[in-house]
Amino acid sequence: MKIHEYQAKAILREFGVPVPAGEVADTPAAARAIAQKLGGRVVVKAQIHAGGRGKGGGIKLADDPAAAEAAARSILGMRLKTPQTPAEGIEVKRVLVEEASPIRQELYLSVTLDRARATPVVMASEAGGMEIEEVAARSPEKILREWADPALGLQGFQARALSFGLGLSGDLFKAAVAAILSLYHCFLAKDCSLAEINPLVVTADGRLLALDAKLNFDDNALFRHTDMAAMRDLDEEEPLEVEASKHNLNYIKLDGNVGCMVNGAGLAMGTMDIIKLAGGEPANFLDVGGGANVNTVSNGFKIILSDKNVKAILINIFGGIVRCDRVANGVVEAAKNVHVNVPVVVRLEGTNAKEAREILANSGLNFMVAGSLRDAAEKVTAAIKN
Ligand code: GDP
Ligand code: MN
Repeated sequence: MKIHEYQAKAILREFGVPVPAGEVADTPAAARAIAQKLGGRVVVKAQIHAGGRGKGGGIKLADDPAAAEAAARSILGMRLKTPQTPAEGIEVKRVLVEEASPIRQELYLSVTLDRARATPVVMASEAGGMEIEEVAARSPEKILREWADPALGLQGFQARALSFGLGLSGDLFKAAVAAILSLYHCFLAKDCSLAEINPLVVTADGRLLALDAKLNFDDNALFRHTDMAAMRDLDEEEPLEVEASKHNLNYIKLDGNVGCMVNGAGLAMGTMDIIKLAGGEPANFLDVGGGANVNTVSNGFKIILSDKNVKAILINIFGGIVRCDRVANGVVEAAKNVHVNVPVVVRLEGTNAKEAREILANSGLNFMVAGSLRDAAEKVTAAIKN
């Protein structure tokens, strides 16, 4: 799960990371009032779940409250397009109004999971700011890394090595050590998959400040953080994925045209692979879970068919605990409930697979019954070409 910058900054503040004073607004008048309260120069920042806002025109400096109001008026309601948004952009519903900071230097700091080493990794760079992806691609040596031992945690000497590597000294050195340890503690305590500050700035008057903040959370740990679950902004998420999660379906929308309905995440990924091997493009990942019954299959059909790109559906269910004949009855019932207007290829394998095929064949509905995985993938890709 992702949250907005203003929410991430409130969390970082709790952990002792220095962030600028500011508040969120959803009207130009509210933005003006906040600017008035803050006094002086402010920065007005679009709040969307995507980075690169600076480049897309979603961040504006304002010298006084009237200018802040005008900046908010131009940003609120715009469809902000950045390299990280969908092509049509994301509508801006809120802005963060913050005291502007005079910048001497932009640094980069993040904590994420290194899956290969199975430990958290802290990354820091002197070359922070809007070009960090370029830096990582062209001069990776400018990104410093320290891996935290999961049992011991990030050690003081590691934080000092990073701070030293950033070229800092004196009070700034100490402030960066503290910020690195704080960000690491936040990453662990909130079950983040990513905790990133870009830029972490040195201000003209020599303070260290988190000017941007991004926290992504591990969805599987959200049950431990009811306070954070409340920060979820469904407006920013793929509508079909939100709908699917209401029915306990594990659905990820993709760009192809072969709808997939599978039980088990491993089989679902294998199914997507074999569709690609047969020359097709999966329209989605969908794991209907262990009990594929009339309800789950009906909901699966509805979600898959809401995607207008879908030209055919492949149902691939392995009957281990759930028997294939029961799944087949579920599929037949569901197809009667939901108006399915594209070809459907069904592959049921496992317990009572033979009975299941007979149920499908005798249903009077127009299913294509497949045997092997390859057969299923070839049938569904051929169905699209016809
Ligand atoms: P992002 O583009 O979505 O990552 O948004 P950021 O919050 O990182 O802002 C992008 C850029 O805007 C930063 O790298 C800064 O150069 C600039 N910026 C943001 N806040 C301030 C500020 O308070 N003062 C100044 N001078 N520039 C700012
Ligand atoms: Mn940024």
